[in-house]
Amino acid sequence: MASTKKDIRALTKNQLRTFFVEQGDKAFRGNQVYEWLWKKSAHSFEDMTNISLETRFMLEENFVINHIKVDQMQRSSDGTIKNAVQLHDGLIVESVLIPTSTRTTACVSSQVGCSLDCKFCATSRLKRMRNLNPDEIYDQVVAIDNESRLYYDRPLSNIVFMGMGEPLMNYNNVLKAIDKITSPEGLGMSPKRIVVSTSGVPKMIRKLADDRVRFKLAVSLHSAIDEVRTSIMPFNATFPLKELRSALEYWYEKTKNRITYEYVVWEGINDKRKDVDALVEFCKFAPSKVNLIEYNPIDDGEFQQASSKAIDMYQAVLEANHITVTVRRSRGKDIDAACGQLANKA
Ligand code: SAH
Repeated sequence: MASTKKDIRALTKNQLRTFFVEQGDKAFRGNQVYEWLWKKSAHSFEDMTNISLETRFMLEENFVINHIKVDQMQRSSDGTIKNAVQLHDGLIVESVLIPTSTRTTACVSSQVGCSLDCKFCATSRLKRMRNLNPDEIYDQVVAIDNESRLYYDRPLSNIVFMGMGEPLMNYNNVLKAIDKITSPEGLGMSPKRIVVSTSGVPKMIRKLADDRVRFKLAVSLHSAIDEVRTSIMPFNATFPLKELRSALEYWYEKTKNRITYEYVVWEGINDKRKDVDALVEFCKFAPSKVNLIEYNPIDDGEFQQASSKAIDMYQAVLEANHITVTVRRSRGKDIDAACGQLANKA
C-alpha cells in the first residue's frame, strides 16, 4: 500500500533545513538528514545513527523514504546483471549492469513503460505508464554501484539512460536525478560518464542545450528517411527529421559536443545504399559517431537483423565520409536484458 505520508526525498536540502527550523531544531540537522538520504542512501530513519531517537521518531511520523527494492536479480552467462526493481506503488522497472574488462555501465530506466511507440521495442508494448521520480532513478544507480562493488570489485564507472522509457519525456526528473548523481552530495560521478539516449524530441534537445547540460547525448535514429522512420517509429510523424536535425544543429552550436547516433540495420527496411547516403547527409553537419547496434528480436519475425554484408556497407560508407562508426554486439540476451527487451516478463 502506498503511504499518504510525504516522500522525504521530494524535499530539497533547503526545504529540509527549513523543516527542522520550524520544528525548533537547528537547520544543520537538515544537512545531516540530507546526507543520510542521498550520499549514504539510507533505507530507513532507523539507519540515521547520529540523529537522536526522538528526531528519528518525529521523521517517521511525518515522512516515508520510498526506496526501490531489487525484487529479482538475474545474471547472464556474459556477466550482465538485470534487476527487476519494485517501486513503492508496486510497479516494476528494469535496470541492467553491463561489465567489460575496464568498465561497469549501468543502463537505467526513466519511465514505467514508455510514452513512445517504436515498433521494434518491447517496452512500448507495456500498458502501464508513469514517470519515475528522481529518487527512483538515483536508487537504480546506487543499486548497480553496490552490485558492481560486490561482484566486480570496483565502483560503477558509466551510466546510460537506455533502459525503459524516453528520458526527455521525463525531463525535469531525469535532470534532477543526474544532478544528484553528479553532485558531491550524492555519488559525485562525472557528467562526462553519463549518456542520455533519446528517440529525438526536438523541443527538449533545444532545452538541454539551453540548460547547458554536461552529459552526453545519443539519438536513436534508425533511419534518416522520414517515410521509413515513421513506419518504425510512428511519433516521427509528429517530430519529423527536419525538426530533429535543426534541434541537433542548435545543440551542436551551443555545446560543441559530438553527437552519437544509435542505429539498427534491418533487412528490407533500411539496408540499402540510399539509407546510408541519407544517414551521412543527416549527420555530416557536426562531428558524429554512429553505433550500429545488433537487433534483439522481440517478436515473431517482423523485424530481422540485416546481413553482415549490409553492415559492412554501412561501415565502409560512413568511414569514407569521416564519420566514426562502431559495431556493437548485444549483451545479456539470455536474460532478456539487451536493448529493447526490457519489458518485465519475469
Ligand atoms: N527512449 C530512449 C532510450 C531507451 S531505448 C531512446 O529511444 O533512445 C535504448 C536503445 O535501444 C535505443 O537506441 C533503441 O532504439 C534501442 N532498441 C530498442 N529496441 C531494440 C531492439 N529490439 N533491439 C536493439 N535495439 C533496440
